[in-house]
Amino acid sequence: DEILAHRLAMIPIVTDLKHYNFQQECSCGGAGCSLCSVTLTCDIKNDTDETILVTSGDLISNDPIIVPVSPNIPIVKLEHDSSLTFEAFTVLGRAKDHAKFQSVANIGYRFYPKIEIDERKCEKCTQKCIASDYCSKKLFEVGTEKSNPKLIPDFWKNCDLCEACFHECPEGAIKVEWDDNKFIFSIESDGVLPFGTLLKKSWEIFKEKIDDFKEQLKNLEIEIE
Ligand code: SF4
Ligand code: SF4
Ligand SMILES: [Zn+2]
Repeated sequence: DEILAHRLAMIPIVTDLKHYNFQQECSCGGAGCSLCSVTLTCDIKNDTDETILVTSGDLISNDPIIVPVSPNIPIVKLEHDSSLTFEAFTVLGRAKDHAKFQSVANIGYRFYPKIEIDERKCEKCTQKCIASDYCSKKLFEVGTEKSNPKLIPDFWKNCDLCEACFHECPEGAIKVEWDDNKFIFSIESDGVLPFGTLLKKSWEIFKEKIDDFKEQLKNLEIEIE
């Protein structure tokens, strides 16, 4: 039962922040009501001679919007004549309390690349363009043997600042830097919230924290010597 409960808890469920309250902030006082929890039921009996797989698609929700993000998440295998019956409750929660409430599967950022090619140095280059051959991401547009290399328009999406082009250019024509004020964020959602909501809500929470911090600073007595 514990393994089942764990598997069930980790199934990402589509979330509706507009119509549901956090249980601890709900008018029911945390007892659980239709404004703060959704019931998911499962009632499966294997009458066949083969083993069957119970998946997230077998969960029946009392709100058609609040359902697993995918119907194909395995829960358990049932052998002939076995059955699985339960009632589960899904509630809003915060990831700092438990990882099962995470709405983001993966997040990372990297610096925005700034790469300059000094065309004057390229003019006298006898190995056009050997530097671009070393770019494993193929981010250079190399024309004829006479034309100077250029970066493709969206090079920043894939450049990982490896500096291979810089090291391999015999004329020192390539400068690889990054912008201190620009970052490329990559966010992988687990499907429970749309991206727009994820970003908007994150900023709202961040702003609330800053306002709270400012408020606490106001009430502090600071002595400056
Ligand atoms: S970038 Fe470097 S290797 Fe490429 S053409 Fe210019 S000088 Fe030559
Ligand atoms: S820094 Fe690396 S990835 Fe970026 S353009 Fe140069 S060789 Fe390619
Ligand atoms: Zn409630």
